[in-house]
Amino acid sequence: MLSDAELSRYARQLPLPGWGPDGQRKLTDARVVVAGAGGLGSSVLTCLAAAGVGYIRIVDSDTVEMGNLNRQTLYTTGDIGKLKAPAARDRLAMLNPDIEVVSLAESISGENLSDVVAGCHLIVDALDNLPTRLLLNEVAVSRGLPLFHGAVYGFQGSATTVVPPQTPCLRCLYQGAVPGKVPVVGVTPAVIGTVEATEVVKFLLGMGDLLTGRLLMYDGLGMRFSEVKVKKDPDCQTCGQHHLPGGKPGR
Ligand SMILES: [Zn+2]
Repeated sequence: MLSDAELSRYARQLPLPGWGPDGQRKLTDARVVVAGAGGLGSSVLTCLAAAGVGYIRIVDSDTVEMGNLNRQTLYTTGDIGKLKAPAARDRLAMLNPDIEVVSLAESISGENLSDVVAGCHLIVDALDNLPTRLLLNEVAVSRGLPLFHGAVYGFQGSATTVVPPQTPCLRCLYQGAVPGKVPVVGVTPAVIGTVEATEVVKFLLGMGDLLTGRLLMYDGLGMRFSEVKVKKDPDCQTCGQHHLPGGKPGR
């Protein structure tokens, strides 16, 4: 049963076909980890908290800087110098006090990867670098946790959804060079983060078609969305059959 406050807060989404109190309960019962509380994270976290996802773990070791504020809309000028993860937690708690938001102000590494995802049903990749994304991808594939990926560059962005073991993983997709820090305008992570949050909500509710096996590409200057198919690489270092736990040993 939803409380009167919940019925009121979610009144505009509950009437959607396939949603209702049962759908809302799926969101309330969900435990998600959002890796990165920057531009993408600002958008994803706000959408998920507002929609009523019941438990959100924010992982980010950075502090708020002036140069973040063109796109990281969770923060204000008064937050400069504060750790992002607890500042984001406090902001989301004001937005929706009925959910639980916890912060982990740590850099993600092989050592703490297990703690980062512990007890969560899915992982949102709101990071800004490929090596850490691939770490998340490895733990997602090895534990069968869905991974929602987004990336931005200037006015361009992309997103895809990984649901192991059926779908291609991020390693199947990214085998090339690793870009460094990239220029980003504030509107782009807002768009791509919202796409990621939409995917999370659809996944939790079991609605619609996910971005699995597809890379959605957004061109803000031309204002076009397009997509390319992503194939599962049978020899993938992460999800290929020779590399999965219990699979055959590597050649
Ligand atoms: Zn793969």
